[in-house]
Amino acid sequence: MSDDVAAAVDALRLGDLILLPTETVYGLGADAANPAAVAKIFAAKGRSRFNPLIAHVSDVAQARRVAVMDALAERLADAFWPGPMTIVAAYRGEGVCDLARAGLNSVAVRAPLLPLARAVIDAFGAAVVAPSANRSGRPSPTTFDDAVEETGPSVAAALDGGPCAVGLESTVVSVLGGVVRLLRPGAVTRSEIESIVGPLAADEGDGHRSPGRLALHYAPDAPVRIEARGARAGEILLGFGPGVGEPRWSLSERGDTAEAAARLFRLLREADRERPSGIAVSPMPNDGLGEAINDRLRRAAGFVG
Ligand code: AMP
Ligand code: MG
Repeated sequence: MSDDVAAAVDALRLGDLILLPTETVYGLGADAANPAAVAKIFAAKGRSRFNPLIAHVSDVAQARRVAVMDALAERLADAFWPGPMTIVAAYRGEGVCDLARAGLNSVAVRAPLLPLARAVIDAFGAAVVAPSANRSGRPSPTTFDDAVEETGPSVAAALDGGPCAVGLESTVVSVLGGVVRLLRPGAVTRSEIESIVGPLAADEGDGHRSPGRLALHYAPDAPVRIEARGARAGEILLGFGPGVGEPRWSLSERGDTAEAAARLFRLLREADRERPSGIAVSPMPNDGLGEAINDRLRRAAGFVG
C-alpha cells in the first residue's frame, strides 16, 4: 500500500475526512458507518441533511453487505461496475449510517473505476461515503487543485488522482420496487442502461425520488446562459464544435460530448475566475453524454426546480 493510501485509510478509521479522487469527480470521503464523520461532510460542504450520500464500495460483494442487490441491481452492477453508475436499492440495515442515507430506508451504492479510489476502499474494507468535494451548490471539482480549493481545509488526507476522466457526477438509477428509474443522467447513458434492463420507467418529476436534485446546483458565481448562439458584451462563451468561440474556452472543438463533459466543470470554474458578466454556453446535442451535460447546465442556469 502506498503511503498516500495508508494515510487516507488512517484518516477514515479516525473519523476524519479525505479528498478521494474518482473517475467522475473528486469526492469528500468519510467512513459511511460513522455518523460523527459523516456529519463533518455535511458541515464542510454546507450540504442539506435531506440530501443523501453515495456509499462507495470496492465491488459487488461489498455492495451486497449494505444494499439488497436484487436481479436488476445485479445486472446493472455486472454491466457497469466498476464505473460511473450509482444504484439506489433497499438498505440492508448496516454499514451506512442514518445521516448518510438522510434517514431513508434505501441506500445509493457505487463501485468507482479509478484505481486509487479502489485501493483506498479496498484497504479500508468498508463503504466510504463521498459526495463531490465542492461546497454545496457549486460546480464539482474535477482536478486536485480545484478540490483542495473547495474543501481542502476540512480534510486530514488528500489524494491526487490527476484530472477526472469523466468529469461529471455518476448516473443515478433506482431499482426500488422492481422498477428501474433514471434519477440523474451521467456518463452511463439512458440507452446503455436500457440495453441491459429494458425501457426505463417514466420520470416522475424532478427532485421527487432523488432528494439531492436541487435547482441552481453546480453553479459558478457568474450567471450561466445556455443555448447561446454567441457571447454578449462581457460574457465568456464556452463553445462546442469547430470554430465556435475561442479555442481556449471550447468545451470540445471536435464536437465530442465526452470531451465536453470532461472539461465542463473545469472551464466553468476557470471562466468564473475571470469575473465575466456572464458565462454563455453553446447548444449541446442530447446524445451520448449530452443529456447529462444539458442536465447540469440547466441546473447551473437555474432552470430546473
Ligand atoms: P452527490 O451529491 O453527487 O453525492 O449525489 C448523490 C446523489 O444520489 C443525489 O442526487 C442524491 O439525491 C442521490 N441519492 C443518494 N442516496 C439516495 C437514495 N437513497 N435515494 C434516492 N437518491 C439518492
Ligand atoms: Mg455534488
